[in-house]
Amino acid sequence: MTSITTDIKELAAEIDRLATENPHASSLFQAFGPLLLGQHRWLQNRQDTISTFPVDPLKFQGGIPLCQQYQLLLADDPWQEAGLSVANAIGQGFPQFSEDMRRLSKEIKDETYDGFPLSDTVDDRDQRTVAAQKLGIEPVSLQLFQRYLTRLLLTKKAQDMAAELASLPWKKGYCPICGSFPHLAIIREKGQRWLQCATCSHQWSFSRLTCPHCDHEDPQETNYLFVEGEKEDTAFICGKCRKYLITSNQSGNLRQSHADLIAFSLAHLDLILQEKGFLPMAECEWNTFR
Ligand SMILES: [Zn+2]
Ligand SMILES: [Zn+2]
Repeated sequence: MTSITTDIKELAAEIDRLATENPHASSLFQAFGPLLLGQHRWLQNRQDTISTFPVDPLKFQGGIPLCQQYQLLLADDPWQEAGLSVANAIGQGFPQFSEDMRRLSKEIKDETYDGFPLSDTVDDRDQRTVAAQKLGIEPVSLQLFQRYLTRLLLTKKAQDMAAELASLPWKKGYCPICGSFPHLAIIREKGQRWLQCATCSHQWSFSRLTCPHCDHEDPQETNYLFVEGEKEDTAFICGKCRKYLITSNQSGNLRQSHADLIAFSLAHLDLILQEKGFLPMAECEWNTFR
């Protein structure tokens, strides 16, 4: 348990450091930092409980993500335990929702609320609005809760599957596990581009010349937008589908920051790109300004 505590402390210190270095994004670190810490703690505590799905190499090569082969989220997943963790983190990061989260936590403990039927893969906002009214909480806070609950459980599935998928080639711009598009690209050693899934945080390598969203290829590699004064941080922009992907060059960095933290510190690029009329490949709570 000591190593878990140390690990959490290091992540908390990293959040504080980056929040200070990036004052323009301090509100993002304040709001989403507790969610990241809570997620990290929850995953660490469950690292010995691993469940995997059998992978069909042919389907995988054909670009069929696991979510189209299996139902990834199941009724007997730890919805209650995960739900309490997410509600607690949202209550800390979003003071305006803390009363809603307190109320929701009570319902979860009493087993009168179950997150599974409203999991984010069920895209039914009306159903969630009705559920929020029944609970006497804001639909927007339940929406945020369900989104992060789904993310947490899918991230666990992705972590459990990572070793098995590592040796299988995946040539698509969407996530091999949950099918979502990436919210961030990281350039690592040998200039390889790694995409990070916006939903389950899985990472996979992908050609630097191709648009992950529409497969359009630009051999000239002219589709990177550099912001004046910043050499490491850019955005891949696609002239065809008008989507962008924030890209951070971490190849020379010994210190590896958590990808979500990199994304928060680069949120000013999201603003610039959206003002230019581009849209993010994955719309997340922290990168959408409309
Ligand atoms: Zn994913
Ligand atoms: Zn494109």
